[in-house]
Amino acid sequence: MRVLIVEDEMRLAEDLRRTLTAQNYVVTHAKDGEDAWFRGDTEDFDLVILDLGLPRMDGFSVLKRWREAGRGMPVLILTARDSWRDKVDGIDSGADDYLTKPFRMEELNARVRALLRRAVGQSSPILSNGAVEIDTRLRTVTCEGVPVQVTPLEYRLLTFLLHHPGRVFSPAEISAHIYEEDIDRDSNAVEVVIARLRRKLSVPVIENRRGQGYFIRARGEA
Ligand code: CA
Repeated sequence: MRVLIVEDEMRLAEDLRRTLTAQNYVVTHAKDGEDAWFRGDTEDFDLVILDLGLPRMDGFSVLKRWREAGRGMPVLILTARDSWRDKVDGIDSGADDYLTKPFRMEELNARVRALLRRAVGQSSPILSNGAVEIDTRLRTVTCEGVPVQVTPLEYRLLTFLLHHPGRVFSPAEISAHIYEEDIDRDSNAVEVVIARLRRKLSVPVIENRRGQGYFIRARGEA
């Protein structure tokens, strides 16, 4: 899952990046409103963490412009302490949740997980299609009840597909959600990761639709 952090306070941005990377998200950072707006408008993110006080364009305006353009990714805003006005304006501008500074990274992580789940209509922190199960709190994978050791990249790929059961994604789309930007993306890399995962999973959960891409069937779907 790909997260955009919009924060001009460099120390906080670095803390956020470290925390989210440790949770196996792919993280991009924008340090001003204009850069944030452009990235959110042209790239595909699963979630945005948006500070409000930003150079060049404030967070409210960034959010309003995204929503007006039909960009619907979940947005968690960061507000100053006790600023109820910011919370109200933020939610009115299209934010999905907010967090008051200073906050604990544990709370941020829990809210991020909840927003990602809600965005795809899931309410449990455990993603499952019946055969494969991922506990997103512990970042563990089991297949038919047996633990499976996966690399961070394999985990990201599996989590991404399982967040959207039944939806087919092209290798390019998958790639955009699982690789860090500065990593050289070999055009076959997604296929290679999928081949590795298929060998590790005792059930053929990752399927492909010829010429279109890959998907994981929803629970009970024939
Ligand atoms: Ca700020």
